[in-house]
Amino acid sequence: MKIALIAHDGKKADMVHFLSGFKDRLHQADVDLVATGTTGAHIQKAGFEVQRMLSGPIGGDAQIAAMAAQKELDMVVFFRDPLDKHPHEPDVQMLMRICDVHNIPLATNPASADLMFRALTQT
Ligand code: PGA
Repeated sequence: MKIALIAHDGKKADMVHFLSGFKDRLHQADVDLVATGTTGAHIQKAGFEVQRMLSGPIGGDAQIAAMAAQKELDMVVFFRDPLDKHPHEPDVQMLMRICDVHNIPLATNPASADLMFRALTQT
């Protein structure tokens, strides 16, 4: 199973906090993680193994979208910051659209990610 993780700057701490609560389950369920560059760096620092793509604003979201389009992902967690502006908003929209086109579970906040992680990592 492969899960993609992306968090805008204002949500990176939330992402690390969220993941930390699932550390054992993720390990047990043999989940591979992939993330945009800076999000991935934060996740690595927290002790997770993660494949890092480009940073979001320079194409990382687009790379994750390409993986989703190729059906390489089982879920996308994208903690967006709704209170900030983002130069790569078109990429953000594109990624969410691709998830819908290919029916890939997409969680955009910790409450929904929590429900999906519990279901996906049920052993
Ligand atoms: P980042 O990209 O993890 O490299 O910060 C995330 C984003 O802003 O899309």
